[in-house]
Amino acid sequence: MLAYTYLAPGTFGLTEKPRPRLQHPRDAIVRVTLSSICTSDLHIKHGAVPRAVPGITLGHEMVGVVQETGSQVTNLSPGDRVAVNVETFCGQCFFCRRGFVNNCTDPNGGWALGCRIDGGQAEYVRVPYADQGLSKIPDSVSDRQALFVGDLLSTGLWAADLSQAGPEDTVLLLGAGPTGVCTLACLLLRAPKGVIVCEPDPQRRAFVQAHFPQVRTTTPDQALSLAAAVSGHGGADVVIEAAGGENTFDLAWQCARPNAVVVLVAMYDKPQVLPLPDMYGKNLTFKTGGVDACRCGELLSLIQAGRLDTTPLITHTFPLSRIQEAYDLFEQRQDGVIKVAIEPV
Ligand SMILES: [Zn+2]
Ligand SMILES: [Zn+2]
Repeated sequence: MLAYTYLAPGTFGLTEKPRPRLQHPRDAIVRVTLSSICTSDLHIKHGAVPRAVPGITLGHEMVGVVQETGSQVTNLSPGDRVAVNVETFCGQCFFCRRGFVNNCTDPNGGWALGCRIDGGQAEYVRVPYADQGLSKIPDSVSDRQALFVGDLLSTGLWAADLSQAGPEDTVLLLGAGPTGVCTLACLLLRAPKGVIVCEPDPQRRAFVQAHFPQVRTTTPDQALSLAAAVSGHGGADVVIEAAGGENTFDLAWQCARPNAVVVLVAMYDKPQVLPLPDMYGKNLTFKTGGVDACRCGELLSLIQAGRLDTTPLITHTFPLSRIQEAYDLFEQRQDGVIKVAIEPV
């Protein structure tokens, strides 16, 4: 089968590999019907994910159809349409029992698919702990609607919950890329008093205005003054940093009012400086980390109920055979691209 492979640092390529086979009674083999390219894939290419293993198939955001299940997978059957969680988790260890599946202590726990084991930019993928990592897609939900459930939307829901934003809060969200927009969609479910999206790219600001007219948009140089004016107390009540840019960490804490919560969802390429003397007395709470992607069923219900729709994010679709072109377009941000879907036809 065709598989898009991490050949060596800086180099990806389309290769021919044997179809994956069951290796454990809790595995499933999924025939991929739609996958996506994620910014994290580019982080692998650029060496920012040292645990990524050369030789693996890329891709950690996908939907498909169950082809085969191991003997211990009792909640799924061949033919089920499923969303695949970005994270692999056993469901039984100390962290999994508390919902902190990103830190599952299994050797393959956390982000393994498309990083340390073969992922889904291929025709088939083996999913370990399939009883935990696969969620059935309701008949009325399309593949395109469900594509982001296991990664981007999981991240959005997790970030929105970490923020604990409520009806009295003015929230400043930095970044209107795919993660920012999915976070915005989930944040709005919490009905905060006001939301300001800060994004330097005018095309991305226009996208937010078109799809979320209730939200204000701004640029980095205006973010602090707007957040202060809207909240009425010197800065945003909650800041969510989903940009991961050169200066966005500084901007995040500077735009926060005293005693605010600052949620850091961004995956940075470089270390960030926490200037504690400058922050002294501001009494901020920082929440950081990688998503605990274990609420896919809840997300699919929200999509089914019409409360979440991220299909406008899919601006381009390519066949797997032309995935290199798709990566070039995505990496160079050509043609107004936000997300690229890959069809393994
Ligand atoms: Zn991702
Ligand atoms: Zn676990």
